[in-house]
Amino acid sequence: MRTTEYGTNVDKNKKESKMKETNLITLSNVKLGGNIPQLNMPYAITCRPDAPCFKQCYCNHGNMAFASVRNSHKNKLELYKEDPKKFFEKIDFELSFVTYKYFRWHSAGDIVDEQYLDLMCWLARRHKETRFLCFTKKYELVNNYLNNHRKPSNLVLVLSNWGTWRVENPHNLPESFVDFGNGDEEIPVFAYECPGRCEACNGQHCWHLNKGQSVCFHKH
Ligand code: SF4
Repeated sequence: MRTTEYGTNVDKNKKESKMKETNLITLSNVKLGGNIPQLNMPYAITCRPDAPCFKQCYCNHGNMAFASVRNSHKNKLELYKEDPKKFFEKIDFELSFVTYKYFRWHSAGDIVDEQYLDLMCWLARRHKETRFLCFTKKYELVNNYLNNHRKPSNLVLVLSNWGTWRVENPHNLPESFVDFGNGDEEIPVFAYECPGRCEACNGQHCWHLNKGQSVCFHKH
């Protein structure tokens, strides 16, 4: 029994120090620019199982495809699953050193589960001066959550369409579209065309998307 208790404490200490030693937020995405922190999750594992974009996902290419990057994302998911509240307290702690104007969720991956979304809201309420942006294809999860909860206004949830694959949007959240250039996508004429680099963008457009507004990305 004593051995078991000792072993359990060792595991607990190991887990706590792993959480402490891991930097959950990063500042290194070329498209976003160096001053916008982000947190990524492993793609595919956290994405919706029938995501229409798997084959063309940019997480299969470039830096995102490096084993070290993928392992880091998987590590973060493990840390979240071990202790969701502590995971978000660690992000809260990392954000306490600098007041960022913008934060980007999931250049890779997606909202893990409903508790995760609830904690995203908790984090945004603690950092009211920061605008948090999250593109997601998990529209059922978001819609179910918003049926019973309010989200803070500085958490911008954008439902992502992909070609002719469409989200359901009863809460009139902002949406994103991908223009494949074949004319089948029915992209709203008022959708803002992404110029490609967030740092140089018109006031970091996506972080200020409101209900009913949309942004369009060109697929090359
Ligand atoms: S529209 Fe602007 S803010 Fe949105 S992804 Fe494109 S460059 Fe970034």
